[in-house]
This record gives sequence, structure tokens and C-alpha cells, in this order.
Amino acid sequence: MTGTSEAAKPAITFLGLSKFFGQLQVLHDVSAVVPQGATVAVLGSSGSGKSTLVRCVNRLETFQGGEIIVGDVRLTPDGAVHGSRKLSDRQVATYRTDIGMVFQSFNLFQHLNVLKNLIEAPVGVLGWSKDKAIERARDLLAKVGLPDKEEAYPSRLSGGQQQRIAIARALMMEPSIMLFDEPTSALDPELTGEVLNVVKALALGGRTSLIVTHELAFARDVASHVMVLDHGRVTEFGPAAEVFGQPKSERTKRFFQSAG
Ligand code: ADP
Ligand code: MG
Repeated sequence: MTGTSEAAKPAITFLGLSKFFGQLQVLHDVSAVVPQGATVAVLGSSGSGKSTLVRCVNRLETFQGGEIIVGDVRLTPDGAVHGSRKLSDRQVATYRTDIGMVFQSFNLFQHLNVLKNLIEAPVGVLGWSKDKAIERARDLLAKVGLPDKEEAYPSRLSGGQQQRIAIARALMMEPSIMLFDEPTSALDPELTGEVLNVVKALALGGRTSLIVTHELAFARDVASHVMVLDHGRVTEFGPAAEVFGQPKSERTKRFFQSAG
């Protein structure tokens, strides 16, 4: 650090984010600055707003107050804006292609085989040639350890295999941000490790990631930063060593102890 140099632009800035479902406020004044390349473990008990928060980043949810700044795009209650211009639906779709998302349920297209699952968006949304998309898909299938499954339909794969395919699909367009919402919580324990290994080895790789997880050992292993939500409020946010080492609240201490 040279002290005088301007700090790199953050990857994601949450500024006073508030979100309601009807009368119910589920996010309260959430603020956090996520540096480029950070791996943020998003922790908190069920119902604390973790899924809602990450879904706001890729515009699967709208919100009522505050904003989220992602690169040159500002997400606001009135829409996504770039400079002073509101993004069209098409531009929002393009914005989304730079953000990969992996859900708890694997969300593969059941009527498409693995290869078609992977090439659908790059070809359909970004207009890649089929050859280019297939080449990248095969490369990613090899990297997630499933090079022989391109013809398989999702229903013939184990949950762990489906989730590895879902991660490969999310990586097809080399997103600069990856969002994971409890990627292993629908899996049997013996399949969890293979998916976490793929997340760690492949999906993180220098990109900025938000990972909602209950796997505290995994969070301790991979997270550079930790956010703890409690009833829609950020109770902890900072470098992982600080949050794990010296949580601010007794409640977080107990949470870390109870969750292992
Ligand atoms: P977490 O992922 O931490 O378990 P969620 O973000 O799913 O929490 O939910 C936060 C709160 O918002 C909960 O009270 C939940 O019931 C509520 N909620 C989530 N999604 C909806 C929805 N689509 N409609 C109404 N309430 C919702
Ligand atoms: Mg959730």
C-alpha cells in the first residue's frame, strides 16, 4: 500500500438498503463496502434476510430504500441507472450476465441435457457462436469433474453433480461477481464436500463472491470477509479474521459457537 494511491473501486457497495415485503421490513439500512475480489460469507439465522440481500444484487428483488452500486451501475428503488440514464430491460439483462448465481435448489432446465443447459444463455442472450459456447462448456465440465455428462439430463444426476453443473453454468460467461445462496444445504452431507471443493477451486478464483452458507468451517476456510445479518440488520461486517476473532456482539459469539 502506498498510502497516497487511490483505493481500488469497491466491487459492491450497499448504501442504507431497506427492503419490505408488504408491511414487513426484512432489510434495515444495510450498508457494507465489498472490495474487489473479496469472498464474503453471509451468515445469520434463518429468516435474517440473507437470500433477500443477495437477490437484490442481481435484481431478482427490488427494494424500497437506499442503493447498491455495482461497478458503473447504481441499483435504486426506481430502477437500475448508469450515469443519469435508466437502464432498459435489455440492459438490465446484460448487467445480470456479469453476475453468476447458484441457488440452493439446482435450478437446471430439466428438459435440456447438460451441454444445452450450459450453452443456452451464452448463445441466446449474449449471441455467442455455438462452437465457442460448446468449447467453453466442455472446458468447464472437465473442471467440475464431469466431462462425461454432457449428454445427461439433470434428473439422472446426483444432487452434488447437478449443483456442480449449476456452478459451471453460472461460470459460462465469466461473471465478475458470483452469488451463492446456500449451495449445499439441499445436499446429503456426503455430497456437500464435492460441491464446496468446486466452489473453492473454481468459482472463487479472484472474482468477488457473496456466499450465503451455514457451513462455518467452509466460511472460515475461504472467506476474506464476513457479514452477519440479524433480523435484517448487519450486526457484523469486516475482514474474516476480525469478525471470527473478535465478534462485536455476544449474540454473534454464541452463533459462532452454536454453529460450530
Ligand atoms: P434467509 O435467507 O436469511 O433465511 P430471507 O431473505 O429468505 O431470509 O427472508 C427474510 C424475511 O423475508 C423472512 O421473514 C421471510 O419470511 C421474508 N420473505 C422472504 N421472501 C419473501 C416473499 N417473497 N414474500 C414475503 N416475505 C418474504
Ligand atoms: Mg435463504
